[in-house]
Amino acid sequence: MAMYVYKFGGTSVGTVERIKAVAEKVKAAHDKGDQLVVVLSAMSGETNRLIDLAVQIQKTPVSREMDVLLSTGEQVTVALLSMALQELGCPACSYTGGQVRIETDSVHTKARIKSIDDVKIRADLNAGKVVVVAGFQGVDVSGNITTLGRGGSDTSAVALAAALKADECHIYTDVDGVYTTDPRIEPKARRLDKITFEEMLEMASLGSKVLQIRSVEFAGKYNVALRVLSSFSEGRGTLITYEESEVEQALISGIAFNKDEAKLTITGVPDIPGAAFKILGPVADANIEIDMIIQNVADDATTDFTFTVHRNDFVKAREILTNVCNDLGARAVTTDDSIVKVSIVGVGMRSHAGIASKMFEVLAKEAINIRMIATSEIKISVVIDEKYLELAVRALHKAFELDKEPKQVGA
Ligand code: ASP
Ligand code: MG
Repeated sequence: MAMYVYKFGGTSVGTVERIKAVAEKVKAAHDKGDQLVVVLSAMSGETNRLIDLAVQIQKTPVSREMDVLLSTGEQVTVALLSMALQELGCPACSYTGGQVRIETDSVHTKARIKSIDDVKIRADLNAGKVVVVAGFQGVDVSGNITTLGRGGSDTSAVALAAALKADECHIYTDVDGVYTTDPRIEPKARRLDKITFEEMLEMASLGSKVLQIRSVEFAGKYNVALRVLSSFSEGRGTLITYEESEVEQALISGIAFNKDEAKLTITGVPDIPGAAFKILGPVADANIEIDMIIQNVADDATTDFTFTVHRNDFVKAREILTNVCNDLGARAVTTDDSIVKVSIVGVGMRSHAGIASKMFEVLAKEAINIRMIATSEIKISVVIDEKYLELAVRALHKAFELDKEPKQVGA
C-alpha cells in the first residue's frame, strides 16, 4: 500500500464543479488502495479577496488578525472536498492546520513550520479515510493561527509528506509540469520529465512560479519525492529528484525570468574600506532585500556600485541611496525600474565550459545589451532592458536546443 500527499491549488478547487472533479480523482486513487492525505489551497482569488477586505479597514492590517482572516479560505475548501468525497461514498475527514497540529513559529503571515503531529492523520488513514488538510496554515505554541506566506500550501503539502514519510508528494496545478521556460513567452517550451532539486530551487528563486520556493527547499532537505502534475489532464508531470544522473543530459534545463526587479547605481563612491557597508547597511536596516550586486573600481580611485531590489522596494531604496550619496560624497544616483533578469539554469554547467560565452553570444546576435551579470555553479543571470525579455528568452531557448527532446542518459 502506497501513501501519497496530493495538493490541489486554487484553480483546481475554484468552483463547486471543480471540487467535485477533485473528489472523483481522489476517490479513484483511494479505490486502488492508496492511503491519501489531500492538502488544499483556498478557491482561486479568495486569498486576494480577503486581503482586499482587510486593507479597506486597516491600511497595514495587524498581522495576527490577518492570519485569522486568511486561514478561512482553506477551511472552506477542505470542508467542501470532504463533503464531496463522502457524497461519493469515500470516507473522508477535514482538518484545519491547528486541528492536526501543524505547529509553526509566531511570525504571522510568513510563519515557518516547526513540527507536525501525525497521530490523528495516521489513525484516520488506518481507519480507511482520506484525510483532507487545510494548506497554508498552522498554529504557534500559544494557539494563535498563523499562515505560511503566499503560495504556502505547497509547503504544507511537502511538510506533511516529510512528516508522514509519504511515498510521493503530488502538486496538482493548472500546468502539467515544470517547463523549460514559461510557455506564454515561448510556445515551444517543453515539459521536463525530471529536474533536480537544485535546479528547481534556482528556477523558483529566479522567477518560475510553479512551486513556492520554500516548498522546494523543504523537499530537498527532507528528501521528499515531489511531482508537479495537472489537475485537469492525465500525465506523469515532472518529477523533482535528487539524482543528477537520472536527469536528462542537457547543457541547461530551463530559462527563468523575473520582471519584479529594479536597478540602482551610485557612482563616484570613494574607493575606501567600509564604502559597501555604508551603502547597503541602511538598505538592510530598512528590511529591503538585495539581489544582485556589482562593484567596479575606476582609474580615479572611485567605484560605481550597482545593485537590484524588488520593484516594490524601489522608491524606498532610491530615497535611502540619495541620502547615502550625500553622506559619502559620491557623485550621483542613477536608477532603472524597467529591467528584467533572465537566467539559464542547469547542472550540466558544472561539467561544460563555455556556457556563459554562448549565452552572451546569443544575446549579442540579437543586439541585446547586458547590464549586469551574476553566476553561480548552476546558473547564469543577466539583467537586460525589459523590452527585450521575449526576444532574449526565445533566442536562448532555441540556441540551447531546449525545444528538442534531449538524449536520455543510459538510453
Ligand atoms: N491561498 C494561499 C495563497 O493564495 C495559499 C496557497 O494558495 O498556496 O497564497
Ligand atoms: Mg497557490
